Amino acid sequence: MLVKSYAVLKTLGSALLDFVFPPFCSLCREGLSDGERIVCEACWAKVALLSGPQCPRCGAPSTGDDRCPNCAGRDYRFSGACVLASFDEGAQALIHLLKYREKTSVGVRFGRMLGEAVKADPRMSGVDRVLPVPLHRSRVRERGYNQSDLIARGVGEALGRPVEARALARTRATRTQTELSGKERAQNVSGAFIVRRPERVAGLRLLLVDDVFTTGATLDACAGVLLDAGAVEVFVAAVASPFRK
Ligand SMILES: [Zn+2]
Ligand SMILES: [Zn+2]
Repeated sequence: MLVKSYAVLKTLGSALLDFVFPPFCSLCREGLSDGERIVCEACWAKVALLSGPQCPRCGAPSTGDDRCPNCAGRDYRFSGACVLASFDEGAQALIHLLKYREKTSVGVRFGRMLGEAVKADPRMSGVDRVLPVPLHRSRVRERGYNQSDLIARGVGEALGRPVEARALARTRATRTQTELSGKERAQNVSGAFIVRRPERVAGLRLLLVDDVFTTGATLDACAGVLLDAGAVEVFVAAVASPFRK
């Protein structure tokens, strides 16, 4: 009897585990191997990681000449950027899982990978704190979490630096940037961020973290208010970017 109920419990337990961690990849539907969770390694391998020289201002792959087509004509207040991957199919699919399908572990793993890329950039070795780009609280309520918090957690782990998620806040629920031009994006986010706890950023070197770096307008708006609040220097890091050619 005891043996039988143990077997029943075991079956129930593994059914529950399979429900929480389905044994199929959330992207390609192939069976997951031992140790794989949510997404298989083959799908992770589709992320187009950047290698080789990158533009120090925006993180785009460097073309070798001085003018970077990706950030030409854009002024940034942050001191430099680090981007992990280009925003093509592989990264896009994973970021979609993170933002819209509650696959929060994807964010932490991306964060650890991004943290390793940041470590390879000597300019950023002196950062004191990692800050996620905040979402407006109405959007956090809707989604249940801020994807940038999860990425920042992984980055903080990789760098061995604390994450500061309360200093900066988004005061307006801005329109999605997807359909906007560069100029419209800057207007859309201008005045959307405030530093609620200046004492937590003043005198420090900061690393701001986001999922996607498009024109850099959001990260730059955050960097601006942090510098105005007394931060010494702000660097930015993003998981992926759809670079202009
Ligand atoms: Zn897969
Ligand atoms: Zn650039």
